[in-house]
Amino acid sequence: MENDCIFCKIVKGDIPSNKIYEDEETFAFLDIAPVNLGHTLVISKEHFPNIYETPEEVMAHMMKTAKKVSIALKALDAEGVNVTMNNNFAAGQVVFHSHIHVIPRFTNDGFELWHGKRGYKDGEKEEIAQKIIAKL
Ligand code: 5GP
Ligand code: ZN
Repeated sequence: MENDCIFCKIVKGDIPSNKIYEDEETFAFLDIAPVNLGHTLVISKEHFPNIYETPEEVMAHMMKTAKKVSIALKALDAEGVNVTMNNNFAAGQVVFHSHIHVIPRFTNDGFELWHGKRGYKDGEKEEIAQKIIAKL
């Protein structure tokens, strides 16, 4: 529990939420400002700021819950689902308690994903791939 964390308060029940699912490690509830109705947030019960600090096993458990929720969103006739996580300010993270967005999607619902910005110069792909591989 992190004192000023809004999602920790939701897990504890100090702030109300529309709970969808709960197990020993994860908690899922409706996003207050949904992209589409049914937009759900899957969070770890324990406080971790984002993917960088969240243990692998907890991430795996959050993803299991995200899959359950994805299937359950068929109850709203969702034709697809975006499963996404924003990490750090640069990526648009606003609440610094690890969470996965599960967003139900409908044909022509008007929600636009990012568009690819640029290609690679000659040799750049290999260089970039090598830099990433070296950190793994
Ligand atoms: P982020 O940009 O950090 O990935 O997304 C945070 C999400 O949390 C936003 O989609 C926002 O609507 C949602 N959110 C922020 N505060 C609350 C709250 O008090 N209750 C609920 N249910 N959702 C919240
Ligand atoms: Zn928290």
